[in-house]
Amino acid sequence: MHDALQSSSGYHQEIDEALHDAFLRKTLDKFAVEYRASRANVFQEVDERGLIRQIADRKDYARQHLEELYEQFKTEAEKRGVHVHRVATPEEANALIARIAKENNVRRVLKSKSMTAEEIGLNPALEAEGLIVDETDLGEWIIQLRHEGPSHMVMPAIHLSRYQVAEDFTKATGEYQEPEDIQRLVKVARVQLRRKFIAGEMGISGCNFAVAENGAVSTLTNEGNARMVTTLPRVHVVIAGLDKLVATLDDVMVALQVLPRNATAQRITSYFTLMDGAGECQANPDNKKIMHVVFLDNGRTEIAKDPLFSQIFRCVRCGACANVCPVFRLVGGHKMGYVYIGAIGLILTYFFHGKDRARILCQNCIGCQSCSNVCAGGIDLPRLVREIRSRLTQEKGSDLLGSVASMAMKDRKTFHRLLKFASFAQKPFTGKSDTTEGARMQRHLPMLFLGKQGFKALPAIADKSFRDRWPQIRPKLDKPVMRVALFSGCAQDFMYPEELEACVKILAAKNVAVDFPMEQTCCGLPLEMMGQRKTSIEVARQNIAAFRELNPDYIITLCASCAGQLKHHYQDILAGPGEEEVKQFASKIIDFSSFIHDVLKLEAKDFNRSAEKVTYHASCHLCRGLQVREQPRALINDAAEYVPCEEEEVCCGFGGSYSVKFPEISSRLLEKKLKNVEATGASRLVVDCPGCVMQLRGGAEKQGLKVKVGHIAELLAENLKQ
Ligand code: SF4
Ligand code: SF4
Repeated sequence: MHDALQSSSGYHQEIDEALHDAFLRKTLDKFAVEYRASRANVFQEVDERGLIRQIADRKDYARQHLEELYEQFKTEAEKRGVHVHRVATPEEANALIARIAKENNVRRVLKSKSMTAEEIGLNPALEAEGLIVDETDLGEWIIQLRHEGPSHMVMPAIHLSRYQVAEDFTKATGEYQEPEDIQRLVKVARVQLRRKFIAGEMGISGCNFAVAENGAVSTLTNEGNARMVTTLPRVHVVIAGLDKLVATLDDVMVALQVLPRNATAQRITSYFTLMDGAGECQANPDNKKIMHVVFLDNGRTEIAKDPLFSQIFRCVRCGACANVCPVFRLVGGHKMGYVYIGAIGLILTYFFHGKDRARILCQNCIGCQSCSNVCAGGIDLPRLVREIRSRLTQEKGSDLLGSVASMAMKDRKTFHRLLKFASFAQKPFTGKSDTTEGARMQRHLPMLFLGKQGFKALPAIADKSFRDRWPQIRPKLDKPVMRVALFSGCAQDFMYPEELEACVKILAAKNVAVDFPMEQTCCGLPLEMMGQRKTSIEVARQNIAAFRELNPDYIITLCASCAGQLKHHYQDILAGPGEEEVKQFASKIIDFSSFIHDVLKLEAKDFNRSAEKVTYHASCHLCRGLQVREQPRALINDAAEYVPCEEEEVCCGFGGSYSVKFPEISSRLLEKKLKNVEATGASRLVVDCPGCVMQLRGGAEKQGLKVKVGHIAELLAENLKQ
């Protein structure tokens, strides 16, 4: 197996190679855009959220009744002439399947696509026993010829061009194959595979669902090869993870409404097969197919008991978490997974394929939440990835960046003193931005300090933080309509205090009293991203205590990432004693745009609408994390001329420490985003998150784009009617 995960430096090198693979870039880019549009289209006719909830509930039921359903499946399948086995490890599974082959005098084995077989390394194990194994799914056959693993769970050869395929077919057939003639290449595959189908003595298939009520197993394909594999040979072996068990056929019918829509944006695949029992087979003396179902545990019963990770059982292997992942889109499945790919691949690698591999791989998640937004089983994938990072830090120790960040942020006063010192120390290097009026940037940092961060200009720390300005700017209102508190986050407090000042100006104009508790500190998200759970819990407690006495109507934050952390993740990491207070705290958190639009109800009449063309970048934590979509766009259009941007909701590549750890990927995401921004012709770009401001402004500055980048609060404050 091709393994890019032996070392961190090796992994980065392979990422670089993937980023320079022009074919991969073009194919995955095209696929990402087309998939998103087709998926949206095909889900219009069903209740997507309702179906996902149903799948989650039904799969949860199956997990909770795993033993019972296994016994029921076994009884029902055995009644229908099927041998049912349960094995604990990949080695046991491989040995059992090899034994079944030997007992039935099999030499030639046919396979239809199975991720479980990939998980256990079935092909090499059978080949080591002297068996000839042929993959029959076209994509799987191609990667078998190349001795590679799949780069996608549904489209295993998506990373290959027709030229590479023609070369492989030339080698396989001994005849030159013309790469331009794709139809002919398909025909060549068909002829080759037909010969193998006829010669095959044992077929091995995967299984999407194993139905307890009638002992049936199912396959879903577009090529029909699984039907050939499961019907032609005299022996049929099904390999299935225990997580494939469901209670009823009705559960399958519910899942079928989502699985193909999510996998390939199809209403249904060309072939859906349910096999309940061993069918007829004239090649066997008793006229019956020899059929075995092998259930693999490989840690699944332990996962099923885990209060958090048991969600994994909801996965139906649709591959959508890769299809929408911006990192997969750039580097492909061989770098965004090990055997399983995409978000679920990062998680399963930890459980099935080694913690060292998972440690490297889990760093490469930017936390954009695109995956959880489409997951067929409603799995909170980014949370599980964060949890793995945290577990790995506990189990294997922290990396340098994490240790330094943890030490610095643990104590608010020390952290803030450090930031103030940095504001002083940076002075020889700072200057004004060329593109964004008045913005202070690190203009004279030698390349030595920037290294791979040179793709964007870095912001300067403000001379005077927001907390130091607060006593002078705090509005004094006689009869306020409500009382709110501001949560600043570190970036706005120390780098962009003008964004918070713009918010304060709007609130004062609308007679809203504002407090700013001085004991507040970092929200903890950067720590979470680095696996520093212990310190992130400490800072979460400090923040809750900081707002305790005020009891405001709302806690407003202008940082979408902080909002997600305070509103959702505090409840995850502070579950247990005191959780009632955490819940109350979370219920008061609101992002800036929602507060202005939904609570203050500002609309067009409240603004002097300018003719300025303004475009928007939807921060991941706002549009997906908080599901806030319409409010900022409506407000921009109230205050100026809103020009929509292509791929407005695709990540800008910031991701906090991600942009430091993976600058090669961060810079590509930024580049694409800025191209789309430029294409709008807008003179201004606004966002709801200071992290995105940092990334986008720094990139625009570096590229010399004439686009002013700032926070939406600044635009609204400028155009507010007084
Ligand atoms: S959160 Fe974003 S980057 Fe991370 S795995 Fe999911 S889609 Fe990929
Ligand atoms: S985790 Fe969700 S999106 Fe990813 S393959 Fe599984 S069901 Fe599909």
